Amino acid sequence: MRIDIITIFPEMFEGPFSESIIKRAQEKKLVDIHLHQLRDYTTDKHRKTDDYAFSGGAGMVMMIEPVARCIDALTAERDYDEIIYMSPDGELLDQKMANTLSLKGNIIILCGHYKGIDERIREHLITKEISIGNYVLSGGELAAAVLVDSVVRLIPGVLGNETSALSDSFQDGLVSPPVYTRPREFRGWKVPDILLSGNEKLITEWKYEQSLKRTKERRPGMLGEES
Ligand code: SAH
Repeated sequence: MRIDIITIFPEMFEGPFSESIIKRAQEKKLVDIHLHQLRDYTTDKHRKTDDYAFSGGAGMVMMIEPVARCIDALTAERDYDEIIYMSPDGELLDQKMANTLSLKGNIIILCGHYKGIDERIREHLITKEISIGNYVLSGGELAAAVLVDSVVRLIPGVLGNETSALSDSFQDGLVSPPVYTRPREFRGWKVPDILLSGNEKLITEWKYEQSLKRTKERRPGMLGEES
């Protein structure tokens, strides 16, 4: 999978993309992430990417020309399955969307700033708008990093043990059961006996019951939903 990210702050991705699973996925060549500095696509001598909003009002708006030029340069090289804009009013990111995107070949992600981007970009150049939650961030970079993380870990071969992604919360329409590690007892707080019993059948049943119980308590809306 190839991911092209258009941003005015490429350095913001250095931390999240140079550690842990995303780092390993890149090393294994399972994902190829390219960061594009939007300012490189301006014709303006000050490399401006934003301007005042027509009709006034507070805040700057990202201009269409540099974005269009950058997207044109990328689409001239290869076909893209989606050209995504990170936006607070976009479709809410969930596990199902992450699964779908993890099967794509090439995607572009555009990060906005200020009051947002010229509406004509959204109308004519973007194929999908994604929000990571009903709150407003100051820029699309953190949202894009969250999206990329949720997608990359699902690309086959990225997680050492593939079943570990399958048993994550939401994959099967339920949240995960509780997990424990050593020691068996800490300050008198014990690991449930059943997990130490060695009886795989009972352990599987217990995990399922716990998942169901937690889902009822914490995400009742998920039950009965198609996963
Ligand atoms: N005025 C806009 C907010 C702009 S926030 C509005 O009220 O809708 C600046 C940029 O941050 C946006 O262009 C978008 O790319 C990003 N952003 C902010 N919140 C986000 C969220 N919840 N999910 C995804 N992207 C978000």
